[in-house]
Amino acid sequence: MSLGAFNPTSELSENVRTRFYIDGVWRSPAGSERFDLISPMTEELTMSVPAGSEADMNAAITAARRAFDKSDWPHLPPSERARYMLRIAEELDKRTALLKRVWTAQVGAPQFFVELSTSMAAEQFRYYAGMAESYPFEEEREALQGRVNILREPVGVSALIIPWNTPLVLLTGKAAPAMLAGCTMVVKPSPETPLDALILAECVAAAGVPAGVFNVVPAGREVGNTLISDPRVDKVSFTGSTDAGRHIAKVCADRIARVSLELGGKSASILCDDADIDSWTQHVALLTMPFSGQICFSQTRVLVPESRHDQFLDAYVAKIESFKVGDPWDPEVLVGPVSIARQRERVLDYIALGRAEGAKVVIGGGKVPGFNRGYYVEPTIFDGVDNSMRIAREEIFGPVVSVISYRSDEEAIAIANDSDYGLSGSVFSADLERGKRIARHIRTGHIGVNTFAVDYTAPFGGYKKSGLGREAGPEGLAGFLETKSMFLPA
Ligand code: NAD
Repeated sequence: MSLGAFNPTSELSENVRTRFYIDGVWRSPAGSERFDLISPMTEELTMSVPAGSEADMNAAITAARRAFDKSDWPHLPPSERARYMLRIAEELDKRTALLKRVWTAQVGAPQFFVELSTSMAAEQFRYYAGMAESYPFEEEREALQGRVNILREPVGVSALIIPWNTPLVLLTGKAAPAMLAGCTMVVKPSPETPLDALILAECVAAAGVPAGVFNVVPAGREVGNTLISDPRVDKVSFTGSTDAGRHIAKVCADRIARVSLELGGKSASILCDDADIDSWTQHVALLTMPFSGQICFSQTRVLVPESRHDQFLDAYVAKIESFKVGDPWDPEVLVGPVSIARQRERVLDYIALGRAEGAKVVIGGGKVPGFNRGYYVEPTIFDGVDNSMRIAREEIFGPVVSVISYRSDEEAIAIANDSDYGLSGSVFSADLERGKRIARHIRTGHIGVNTFAVDYTAPFGGYKKSGLGREAGPEGLAGFLETKSMFLPA
């Protein structure tokens, strides 16, 4: 029996369990298909939920389009929309304990990670609400031909497409700026994690947000395709895999729809030869294998100087071995299961591939002994990895890290940049200026020097195949705005 066994019938409302939120009301699904939510801890059915059909998605797009074109929502002063957003934040606060439980129940997120992140959902709504007065939605300039007002207007109906790993805060990181901007939206959570978006819909309803502004239809890829292809959708904001992002970008390109993409990563953490290994290992729980490595910013390549290779590797291995592995409901556990069966198979296949490529397993390398059920994979460190190996080039999305040796700062930079991806990274050195110099040469959208932070007030996103556009901070709001130059008589 799991420490925190989740009871959907007593913990979730009937609306969240059985309906979709479309046009300001809870609607029964048009079709009869369902998604099974399987516990990663027990491999048993937690619950089944209705799957959205084309008809449900169409109804949601129609509602969002009507609310954008016919209601006064996009024309309200931002401060009025901010009032709704502050109410949503209050409603989220009331449900924080539930949202934490839902996250672990659906995908096995460990408690330290859940504690660290869940409250961010309400904070993101407050943060963007706070921007209502300060953001330059309207600005007057002297142009060559007279006075011009620069208007920053909502981009329109937005499709928010969310992956399964951190479904709540990735959604609120899109929905909060979209609302402040004056957009209306259709949210498509992934089939593995439909509950967070539906609970957010309860908050939106309780806050009195006008009908059609926020709609939720959990659906798979096929119905997702309906959403991204529909000419009534002005913008697609996607977070997920690079393969799906490539497809979505092509579909959007065809109709010149606005698109932003937050995709995968293969980030490098560089330890300089003067690095204080203890200050690095303090960050390791979040840095190299957070949530069993199923986080886009995971630093899955650890670059160590050849001169201190053994010392650094021993310290890293000792740190990872000190992590409690097991049931993610246990607050002391740092590494739980991976989230879905196909993910476990994928991770185990990559571990086999790493061995076949000639890398050496230092710790881990298989299923966690003693667990007869659940998708538990051991934290695994490969040493002797060459950056040309597939385990160093492809995103594994599991608790698997490649240790790669280098001889000079220039070589470390070259290895870090020799990647299709460019999402995150870190550099640790006793000399801050040296660390900053290296960080400036790394082609990624997010990097830490002698620290590591993910902060919704600073822009986040990828270079290269890690994405297009930025979320978070004022840049995240800009992604939901169009710019208009309105000329006035001199
Ligand atoms: P995925 O690409 O399989 O799915 C993501 C979402 O997109 C799901 O809701 C899915 O149903 C939907 N989707 C997929 N194809 C679609 C289509 N053709 N039309 C409409 N919707 C479609 O990714 P996943 O396995 O759920 O998530 C893991 C990936 O997400 C990893 O690659 C990870 O790095 C990435 N990720 C990136 C960030 C970031 O901020 N850069 C954050 C978290 C996760």
